[in-house]
Amino acid sequence: MPRAEPVVRDESAVREYILLGADGRPYPSRTPGAVGGHRRMKIYGRLDCPAALRALARGGYVTHRVFFADEPTAVAAGYRPCAVCSPDAYRRWRARQAG
Ligand SMILES: [Zn+2]
Repeated sequence: MPRAEPVVRDESAVREYILLGADGRPYPSRTPGAVGGHRRMKIYGRLDCPAALRALARGGYVTHRVFFADEPTAVAAGYRPCAVCSPDAYRRWRARQAG
């Protein structure tokens, strides 16, 4: 059996992601966010949200693009669900707004 070469870990090569916490402040993370968001519009949604991808393709959105570890964190940061990719969460949010 050939011996495996020791893996040299170059920490600087490890991909680091910047996510927003529940307080809306950015922090470095080793794992990518599960949901994306728009900083200006305060909307969060799926990473493959068709509305977000269209906006990203048009340009401009990318400068406001933020990421969260999960949905509760996005909500805690004051973001509301995207009506396009998260209609159920959006309806619940709307119902809460109507109070
Ligand atoms: Zn969406």
